[in-house]
Amino acid sequence: MVHVATTIAPVQDGQLTELIHDDLAATGLAPAEHVVDAAYLSPARIQRADQIHNITLLGPIAPDPSAQAMAGSGFDKSAFVIDWERQVAICPRGSPSRSWGPLRIKGHDYIQVRFDTATCRVCPVRTSCTASAERPRALALLPRPLHEIQTRNRAEQADQAWQARYAIRAGCESTISENVRVRGLRRTRYRGLAKTHLQHVLTAMACNLARLGDWLNATPKTRRRASRFHTLCQALLAPT
Ligand code: SF4
Repeated sequence: MVHVATTIAPVQDGQLTELIHDDLAATGLAPAEHVVDAAYLSPARIQRADQIHNITLLGPIAPDPSAQAMAGSGFDKSAFVIDWERQVAICPRGSPSRSWGPLRIKGHDYIQVRFDTATCRVCPVRTSCTASAERPRALALLPRPLHEIQTRNRAEQADQAWQARYAIRAGCESTISENVRVRGLRRTRYRGLAKTHLQHVLTAMACNLARLGDWLNATPKTRRRASRFHTLCQALLAPT
């Protein structure tokens, strides 16, 4: 464990991603790849980690929340072709969008795309596209760089090779579980953030020392027990 951040309870995990990266970079410990769960990443955080710290933020992006995607049927966002140069979207029936304009949702910038009302009303696959009785289909797109990150990540995370690469995250979860069960991480022994942070730092140190001990005492694979210095040298010289 190379970083400890302590916050009050209502702070969401994802609000810490940037702070963690800035702290790690300031101490020369920024990783090439940071494997996180869904709470820690978004297209904007993937972009920032890459642009500012050259960190690959690896994790699953939240699924498309549209009714079509949630139901697993009908036309979700991925069924539409986006022509960014012409600022037009083409629907699965081949119809171009009618309008393209800015939209704000919960303080974030989006692009709202609307299709033609008359065309959508008589569309034979309308029920696969929108639940509205009267209104045309509309899309809310992230700005282009973020949309492309979102689309690429969602496609990759469905792939077995990506899932095998992401499996290493289980090690982070087991570390958290170990600290919760063995070292009481979920309960603070003190009042106030400063003392609680100290407890967290000491917990991390205890975890590191315990793991170092386990590593040094690991049963050697050869019949002749290797010296600890030899084992350490082998570990340091092993290709990463
Ligand atoms: S409802 Fe409208 S946007 Fe959807 S497929 Fe039909 S014409 Fe295209």
